[in-house]
Amino acid sequence: MNTKVCKFGGTSMANSDNINAIANIIESDKERRFVIVSAPGKRNSNDRKITDMLYACYHQVELNGECMETFGQIRERYVEIVNDLKLDIDIDKYLDEVYEGIIKYRSSDFAASRGEYLGGIIMAKRLGVEFIDPKDLIKFNANGDFDAETTNELTRQRLKDVTRAVIPGFYGADTSGNIKTFSRGGSDITGAIIARATEASVYENWTDVNGFMICDPRIVKNPAHIAELSYRELRELAYMGANVLHPESIFPVRYNNIPINIRNTFEPEHPGTMIVANRKSTNNNIITGIAGKKGYSIVFIEKSMMNSELGFARRVLSVFEYYGVSFEHMPSGIDTLSIVVSDSEIAGKEDVIIDRLKKTISPDHIELLKGFSLIATVGHDMSFKPGTACRIFNALAKQNINIRMIDQGSSEMNIIVGVNTQDYEKTIESIYNEFIK
Ligand code: ADP
Ligand code: ASP
Ligand code: MG
Repeated sequence: MNTKVCKFGGTSMANSDNINAIANIIESDKERRFVIVSAPGKRNSNDRKITDMLYACYHQVELNGECMETFGQIRERYVEIVNDLKLDIDIDKYLDEVYEGIIKYRSSDFAASRGEYLGGIIMAKRLGVEFIDPKDLIKFNANGDFDAETTNELTRQRLKDVTRAVIPGFYGADTSGNIKTFSRGGSDITGAIIARATEASVYENWTDVNGFMICDPRIVKNPAHIAELSYRELRELAYMGANVLHPESIFPVRYNNIPINIRNTFEPEHPGTMIVANRKSTNNNIITGIAGKKGYSIVFIEKSMMNSELGFARRVLSVFEYYGVSFEHMPSGIDTLSIVVSDSEIAGKEDVIIDRLKKTISPDHIELLKGFSLIATVGHDMSFKPGTACRIFNALAKQNINIRMIDQGSSEMNIIVGVNTQDYEKTIESIYNEFIK
């Protein structure tokens, strides 16, 4: 029998009706053996995600030694779900233990992970199957880095004879047993790890949309649907902000080329989007997708003859390295160099970095430009085809959008433009209209 691994996101876990929808999906197919769950997410646009509330609890404990009020709201949500589902679980006992742990361990990872832990206990009870804690499977080394091979071996051994189980997403443990989480949205990575270890035929990632759209549906209304994506296209789009799937989700599945199928919990008959190692079909549209992120700054450096100064770029980058700031792009001209960094990376270090750069490279001019967004247009069918860049630039020129930076990946499967953040939505819309409509 084939094995399917199914991960359900926060909206799918948000209330008892949605949890029942998950149970129907699992019970309709015997091959759906491993169920990975996120913490309950928002029930409506004004609601809060359990994970956000748990991070808030951690901060409140750091400040005041307690977080009773916020934890009370978390308690209410889980109690309501358990009561609505009429499950025989002493959820208050679990919640008391979680509260004690948040106070005792003072660990933001421990606190954040408890959303999926409690969600997993509820889901396992609803399905009447085993609950498996990922702290015993998913391992991080002493530096806090994910240990893929130890994890794969432990998970393979533990799951090989299990018929069906629920495993919470998002966390594992380090060598001393301390709980460690992945970055936000990391339950997608857990699903991929379980798919690799169980040699799944497919990794189904169930969310609240019918798969990937060409761009964020919150920016363009009803954007066209993408039926098939390659791993590399997914990585480019996800990294650049298409947050349907965590950008690191492809690393575990690409060992054995397991396809990822993005599906909609609320429209289970829709085939969704298939993400495969190598896409066979070609697109009608030349481009596959558009994604973008706000919140970038540019350190703009001018110095005559910089190109002939040996080691110039290395000395610039060593300053960023010294302050632990990683950069996104480094477009250059004859006498100019721009370092594009995300605001969250450089926050609080702007002045020391500029000062040190002045001392290290004696620029003619240096300044920090703020308020940028990056927008990537992605697709295999763009590679080595003349004209795509020209169409993007013309579309933006027609809308009076000033392009502040251009970067084309050497694979020619992405073109990234930097624009002022006030033009962010307009830029995505213009590129979409140029290629799709
Ligand atoms: P989950 O909680 O199931 O993991 P996420 O909120 O992480 O779900 O991801 C799904 C959301 O991603 C959608 O609700 C949608 O608003 C957003 N999204 C952003 N870009 C895209 C895109 N290109 N196609 C589809 N959805 C997108
Ligand atoms: N609950 C975690 C988050 O909100 C992980 C996830 O949903 O994938 O980031
Ligand atoms: Mg997600």
